[in-house]
Amino acid sequence: MTDTLLQDMITAAIKAAGFAYIPYSGYAVGAALHATDGTRYTGCNVENAAYPSCICAERTALVKAVSEGRQAFDLLVVATRNGGSPCGSCRQMLYEFAPKLRVVMVDFDGNITADAPLDGLLPLGFGPSSLPPKPNT
Ligand code: ZN
Repeated sequence: MTDTLLQDMITAAIKAAGFAYIPYSGYAVGAALHATDGTRYTGCNVENAAYPSCICAERTALVKAVSEGRQAFDLLVVATRNGGSPCGSCRQMLYEFAPKLRVVMVDFDGNITADAPLDGLLPLGFGPSSLPPKPNT
């Protein structure tokens, strides 16, 4: 992975945060998810008056990617004003597809606050291999 790619992904995540719909928390999050085929998907958090219906930036990017046929990923950049980390739900959703995903957290100035593999952020994660084989139908 090149420094240029990482920098492009950081820029994309920060830009995506600018689209956040956050009337309740005021906490903007942007995400940029890089698929192994070179495509990139961005997302922002989208809040809702019915709070449980909110969706995070990371899952927005993931769902966009999967819905367009991508299921293999190697880099996620998450941008917040304080370099915050992905929530547990996002870690779990991402673990399904990329347990070894590199997760880079940055603030809005592009400073890296953390850089860790997903399986380090979600130790002993539950994934597809955790399930027993399907019974014959
Ligand atoms: Zn989340």
